[in-house]
Amino acid sequence: MTWDLGLIYKTAEEAWADAKEVGQLAQKAEKEYKGKLTDAKTIVECLHLYERMAELAGKVSNYFGLAMETDYTDSEAVANSNKADSITTEAYTRTSFIDSELVEADDAVLEEAIKAGGTVSNYIKDVLRGKPHLLSPETEKVLTALGEFMETPYNVYNQAKLSDMQFDDFTVNGKTYPLGYSLFEDEYEYECDTDVRRAAFRHFSDKIKQYENVTAAAYNAYVTRDKKIADLRGYKDVFEYLLFDEKVTRDLYDRQIDVIMEKLAPHMRKYAALIKKVHKLDKMTYADLKLSVDPDYDPRVSIEEAEKYVADGLAVMGEEYVSMVHEAFKDRWIDFATNDGKCTGGFCASPYGAPASFILLSWQNRMADVFTLAHELGHAGHFRLCNNSQGYFDTQVGNYFVEAPSTINELLLTGYLEKTGDDPRFKRWVLSCTVGKTYYHNFVTHLLEAAYQREVYKIIDEGGSVQADTLSQIYKDVLTKFWGDTVELTEGAELTWMRQPHYYMGLYSYTYSAGLTIATKMSKRILKEGAPAVADWKKALAAGSTVTPLEFAKMAGVDISTDAPLVETVEYIGSLIDEMCELTEKIK
Ligand SMILES: [Zn+2]
Repeated sequence: MTWDLGLIYKTAEEAWADAKEVGQLAQKAEKEYKGKLTDAKTIVECLHLYERMAELAGKVSNYFGLAMETDYTDSEAVANSNKADSITTEAYTRTSFIDSELVEADDAVLEEAIKAGGTVSNYIKDVLRGKPHLLSPETEKVLTALGEFMETPYNVYNQAKLSDMQFDDFTVNGKTYPLGYSLFEDEYEYECDTDVRRAAFRHFSDKIKQYENVTAAAYNAYVTRDKKIADLRGYKDVFEYLLFDEKVTRDLYDRQIDVIMEKLAPHMRKYAALIKKVHKLDKMTYADLKLSVDPDYDPRVSIEEAEKYVADGLAVMGEEYVSMVHEAFKDRWIDFATNDGKCTGGFCASPYGAPASFILLSWQNRMADVFTLAHELGHAGHFRLCNNSQGYFDTQVGNYFVEAPSTINELLLTGYLEKTGDDPRFKRWVLSCTVGKTYYHNFVTHLLEAAYQREVYKIIDEGGSVQADTLSQIYKDVLTKFWGDTVELTEGAELTWMRQPHYYMGLYSYTYSAGLTIATKMSKRILKEGAPAVADWKKALAAGSTVTPLEFAKMAGVDISTDAPLVETVEYIGSLIDEMCELTEKIK
């Protein structure tokens, strides 16, 4: 049930040995290259050494960080992770002179270095691109040294949520039920017994509300940090700063939020009405939105069956891809366990230079978990391709398309399932997986988060600050705008701002729908054309961060310079909902 971090390092001693080497490489860089980055040959040599250091630092941080993610109550794991972070921060502080000296070098020298740089060429280009925002060498050094504290808000958030928050049992109609963070998000939100589901929502909300001030303080520190850095570095506003490294324009960002808020809302209200009707609810509340259209039909899935579903569903991606899927199960890349102190939700980490990816899940034997698994394996497949094709610096894939290879796997799985039966009830169930899981999660949940986040950053950008009640009000406004009067906002709905770790990862939330827009078009191509489309897709994935989001989409045959693919995707979601409504009439 647990993953095997031994795939990165056999023992912790081995990892500490590499951590030591990270420090030594940083010292070597400082001793041999500081003050000397004036000719192309020296620049390229130094950057290759730095590349090696960064690669090892990533491996070490992942090894100790991942151990902590599975149990935040394990104080030794937390201490190890902190220690590893300190070591890498120190190494980056020592080597912060590199960027400062690079931007001061002659243009002709840099051009020569870029030509001769190989895997470090794009790194040089990116440093030059950021030149207008670079501060003096001493200031850069101080900022890097303070780097590990920059993540303190996220650590506080996680400790409050995963270690300190203890949920009491609750009772409904004489029966007692246990409650926990994951238990609520993975089980009770989908619970068919309306009394139990709504009671769980109430108890969950009451508990998290007790932590709203500490969470708001951590979050305010986080977003204010972004604003301070944006100002110090001379960005026009905090948005320009947050989108700069992503190579995404403000237009592209705003469009994603505005188009979906306006055009998807009517379809989703129809979907909410369908849930209410099918479940014969007295009213549709926020606590009922995760209900599946046909929960009785939802098969329980064992881990063995999941492997078969995913392998068959992704067979269209080719033999090599499927063998990676089997490898993930056989070699224990996946942490299925549901223990206290474990990070909620799911993610996939693919340390550069390790032979495996690491997938964290909260496995509940549901079909929805199979979709999550296909999703995370999409990240693994992406990084296997680009880690094997590019140097370390060219695998720092931006958020805008990082969720495309993951969400496309969910769609390919749906495409496969659709072909396995044509009974109306089965068909509706498959559609409900796509709408209720894939599109709901990426186009609704994360999108509403993105709309909320944009409002928060607007306040911060104007020099304001945010407290628990401001955040709740913003969240409530966003929900009201989207759901109208179709969904009653149960007390506690406004606290959703407390639940998502992505708020501590820059403007991450909006990228899910951006990725899925590309994935929607691409999956249609793959299901229709087969091999040639798969080849295009793999080529785009292998490109890593050598391409911008626009170029990436273009390699996949999708033009995101206009809003057409997005509008088309929204219409497609609408058509799926219409089809579900029609099938429901038939089934009756
Ligand atoms: Zn993902």
